Amino acid sequence: MTTGSRLLGELIDSLRCLPGVGAKSAQRMAFHLLEREREGGLRLASALESAMRDVGNCGRCRNFSETPVCSLCSSASRDRHVLCVVESASDLAAIEQATGFRGHYFVLLGRLSPLDGLGPDELGLPLLAERLGEGEIEEMIIATNPTVEGEATAHYIGQLARAAGIRATRLAHGVPLGGELEFVDRGTLAHAFGSRQSLG
Ligand SMILES: [Zn+2]
Repeated sequence: MTTGSRLLGELIDSLRCLPGVGAKSAQRMAFHLLEREREGGLRLASALESAMRDVGNCGRCRNFSETPVCSLCSSASRDRHVLCVVESASDLAAIEQATGFRGHYFVLLGRLSPLDGLGPDELGLPLLAERLGEGEIEEMIIATNPTVEGEATAHYIGQLARAAGIRATRLAHGVPLGGELEFVDRGTLAHAFGSRQSLG
């Protein structure tokens, strides 16, 4: 892109790594930051650098965390007997915002998809099985997305629960088939969460 400034060109190119940001929006953002938002831009740069460098995954639930165990896992006020399994950290955030769930989570960081090389190991299922074997969990809520792969993942995880003698439930109706939890409105998600059903 011709801008007269090499650094500006680099900024525009870099902004394009954001989802949904094409050449035009990247250019608009870069000009906005330089013209009107230098302070915010510097804050953004510093937050980006720290997060990219220091945020890893919790050793217990695989949620994003800059400490070995995340604040949700180490919280004394959450119910250790209920574990909610989600595909992504954004699904976890959606459930936290929409429901009154106060249990623990396990984040798969994906869904079973052999063609993409995502099998049980990639989803951390050995870690999950270990967790189930600790004997603290009484109910596992499987909140994978209602897509074909999400359902296959739920089925697989349901078997892990059964093997460990733990009750497994699945989010009920309301979440559209093929939908993503992240994009479901809060009321619908809260209802689906509240009326979850036992897995066969
Ligand atoms: Zn955690």
